[in-house]
Amino acid sequence: MADDLLARHRAVLPSWMALYYEQPIEIASGAGVRVKDGDGNSYLDFFAGILTNMLGYGVPEINDAVAKQLASGVVHSSTLYLIRHQVELAERIAELSGIPDAKVFFTCSGTEANEAALLLATQFRRSNQVLALRNSYHGRSYAAMGITGNRGWSASSLTPVNVSYVHNGYRYRSPFGQLPDEQFNAAIADDLRDIIATTTSGDVACMIAEPIQGVGGFATPPDGFFGALEEVLDEYEIPFISDEVQTGWGRTGEHFWGYQSHGITPDILTFAKGLGNGLAIGGVVARGDLMDSLSANSISTFGGNPVSTAAALATLDYVRDHDLQANALKIGNQLMTGLRPLASEDSIVGDVRGKGLMIGVELVRPGGKTPNAAAAGAILEETRRRGLLIGKGGLHGNVLRIAPPLTLSEEDADEGLAILTESIAAVEGTE
Ligand code: PMP
Repeated sequence: MADDLLARHRAVLPSWMALYYEQPIEIASGAGVRVKDGDGNSYLDFFAGILTNMLGYGVPEINDAVAKQLASGVVHSSTLYLIRHQVELAERIAELSGIPDAKVFFTCSGTEANEAALLLATQFRRSNQVLALRNSYHGRSYAAMGITGNRGWSASSLTPVNVSYVHNGYRYRSPFGQLPDEQFNAAIADDLRDIIATTTSGDVACMIAEPIQGVGGFATPPDGFFGALEEVLDEYEIPFISDEVQTGWGRTGEHFWGYQSHGITPDILTFAKGLGNGLAIGGVVARGDLMDSLSANSISTFGGNPVSTAAALATLDYVRDHDLQANALKIGNQLMTGLRPLASEDSIVGDVRGKGLMIGVELVRPGGKTPNAAAAGAILEETRRRGLLIGKGGLHGNVLRIAPPLTLSEEDADEGLAILTESIAAVEGTE
């Protein structure tokens, strides 16, 4: 890197800010589903800036919407005044959410969205007891970290919430994993009932879960999983929060929201990432009575600012007008069909799973299920060398995460698939 940006970064940014790659990349420009680094190398982006750039880069419709807002001179005024785009966006999202009598509060990130959701639920129920899933990730603020079921992402054990962790739907590593779907879901629901009875006083504020665990390695539960859990939650009138920060906006292909694969409607839904196609926006949707239960302002004055909401409205139009949910399903199936055969007993690929354009490839030591984080790191380096960016995750850091922009074409999917398959083979050859 010409101006030694990495050394400057290390000198003034925190040591705990993780960077990908032995030689970290500066994303210097982007167009469509491709980006260029500071040295001019081009990459096909199969991680979309951790799912933020869901339409890809340099999209004229988004640029125009943002430019028009900038030209008005109003970059941010104040949430003490009416913001037209904010109201329009809230109307759109309230309707899309499927939550009856829904109200929307905007934030700048997914972390703040979950923080707001926890504030609502704990205040509404006058309880700080929260149920979350093992292997979950909900953000990095004080409370969001406290409900993240992965110590690798929790910088502090101190937390304002009293959390109990429920078994997740991660079949590959679940003690119930061998059971058929319906029995698997029932076994976890029984476990939930036990956890409520043994670790809480019953008046739990909420349960929060990701429909597909993102940072946790795209761990994908069977359909109906959250339906089975909801039956138990209903017995105790415990509100359910669906963290759709990664699963929203049609990415899973089958549905617009991840929760819809489970025959439930959440009481609260949180979102962020893709909505602004890179601009900072997040938020929480809740039943009106829940949302209005606070008696004072919440979280921040900066969420739902005129620029981010302009970008978000244009992004939602784009997703609808180009039927990107259908594209996510089609291209996701194409990638899945190409990747599934790689998994076998004697290969480093132990499991391939996901929905739509959220695909996890779990790496293990051949002949068993021992996590192989070294192979994941080596494959990331290999794909980068060959011009493809992918992500990594999982409790043990051994899962490749494939989450391209929803605009990915068949040809680009084939190109990325070829690079990925060659890279896995190259690393497997050195094992
Ligand atoms: N929830 C989930 C499911 C996430 O994946 C993330 C981010 N990876 C967050 C919340 C936090 O979002 P943000 O990084 O925008 O604060």
